[in-house]
Amino acid sequence: MASIANVASPEQIAKYEPVIGLEVHVQLSTRTKIFCGCPTAFGAPPNTNVCPVCLGLPGALPVLNRLAVEMAIKAGLALRCRVNTTSRFARKNYFYPDLPKGYQISQYELPVAEQGWVEVEGKRIGITRVHMEDDAGKSMHEGFRDSDQYTYVDLNRTGTPLIEIVTEPDLRTSGEAFAFLTELKQALQYIGVSACDMEKGQLRCDANVSVRLKGAETFGTKAEVKNLNSFRFVKMAIDHEIARQVAVLESGGRIEQESRLYNPDLDETFGMRSKEHAHDYRYFPEPDLVPLRIGDEWMARIQAEMVELPAGRRARFIRDYGLREYDAQVLTATRDLSDFFEAAAKASGDPRAAANWVMGDLAAALKEAGQNIADSPVTPERLGELIALIGKGEVTGKLAKDVFPKMFATGDAPRDIMEREGLKAMSDSGALEKIVDEIVAANPKQVEQYKGGKTTVLAFFVGQAMKATRGQADPQAVGEILKSRMAR
Ligand code: ADP
Ligand code: ZN
Ligand code: MG
Repeated sequence: MASIANVASPEQIAKYEPVIGLEVHVQLSTRTKIFCGCPTAFGAPPNTNVCPVCLGLPGALPVLNRLAVEMAIKAGLALRCRVNTTSRFARKNYFYPDLPKGYQISQYELPVAEQGWVEVEGKRIGITRVHMEDDAGKSMHEGFRDSDQYTYVDLNRTGTPLIEIVTEPDLRTSGEAFAFLTELKQALQYIGVSACDMEKGQLRCDANVSVRLKGAETFGTKAEVKNLNSFRFVKMAIDHEIARQVAVLESGGRIEQESRLYNPDLDETFGMRSKEHAHDYRYFPEPDLVPLRIGDEWMARIQAEMVELPAGRRARFIRDYGLREYDAQVLTATRDLSDFFEAAAKASGDPRAAANWVMGDLAAALKEAGQNIADSPVTPERLGELIALIGKGEVTGKLAKDVFPKMFATGDAPRDIMEREGLKAMSDSGALEKIVDEIVAANPKQVEQYKGGKTTVLAFFVGQAMKATRGQADPQAVGEILKSRMAR
């Protein structure tokens, strides 16, 4: 490997424009595998979720999982692709211990969907293709015996349905790549085709990176950083790769087209093998599967099942509920969260207040309890009810902050809690005036200070009144009464 300084200076990097294209593998959330009935469940004992088909035993024939096809098509639609009414499976031949068939069943010339785009930070990132394929198994390098290291193969994963999403080389920064992946993950989660849980290997990314002098017309030679399993690592690996390539070029070297691996501990990429070419795989049409045809009726049914995508929802929240861009972004992060917010907003009659409660008190309570929004003990309807009560003046904002944790602890409706605990906004102005009068009488020194121009003591009086009413008084009303009393 090149022994030249392997990271360029910021000045050197500034002379170049990075070009990035991503290849993303996503596990479809079917219950069973793509070509057999074995479960896709995570965490089973090694080699228990297997059968002759996914073990690649001679004579076993694949049967395509209908649901996997529908999910792949939905992904294509979400990425604004053209869905091919006929697509074809192909064998991609290579040898690896965790690939018992000796080939991967993938799609090559005719993928299920192609030519789409995703909008990221106001810019369209082209989607080259979406194709279906089966996953390989897992090699585990562990265990020592007589100082020999053993490698074990777990074939539970073989035959897990995947889609591969390939982008055009349209990304220009690691930040754009990160934003693209975030958008992609959200969209796939919304439409229910993948949980995209990276810790379970459900989303893996290869980053293709090249650099060219700013203003140059042609792309530079790319290197592909393979198998990145977190968005943060994708970003770090791309940044490192840009700096490495610039350093090579600046010292008169050439970029090799190759696959590299990223080591996050060292923040370095290293060469893995020279990039294989398509002919190395000897792709040929899969003889055990007929071409996949998607008729109009089937297509229409799949289309009817599509739900609103996060980008559309974000725009709608800003338009219909007057949310700020940032809040809309936060509240559409997951479909569960955006569903919750929308139901609460509708029930409350005050969407911006609903946004504040969901992102504030509710988010904090869920975090502390280690719970997801989907199992929030406070339903969106009840949160909306609480907000509506504040709006009607039946509960003060301060009191609501006390009622909410009780709703969270019990799941009860705000009215029930207020009744049970004797918590009610003090709307009886006579009673409130009496309390204020008592406080004024009991604190002559502070009254003098106020009259002498030290208006900040008003806060002291309001505090006393809130204490005396256990937070049930409307602080604003208290302030008004105080001012009128002390003006005399
Ligand atoms: P290969 O034949 O080497 O697999 P492809 O043309 O299929 O290359 O592209 C694979 C990925 O690499 C795509 O995401 C594509 O956008 C990206 N890519 C292609 N050329 C470049 C380049 N010069 N720089 C960065 N990315 C590139
Ligand atoms: Zn099987
Ligand atoms: Mg390729």
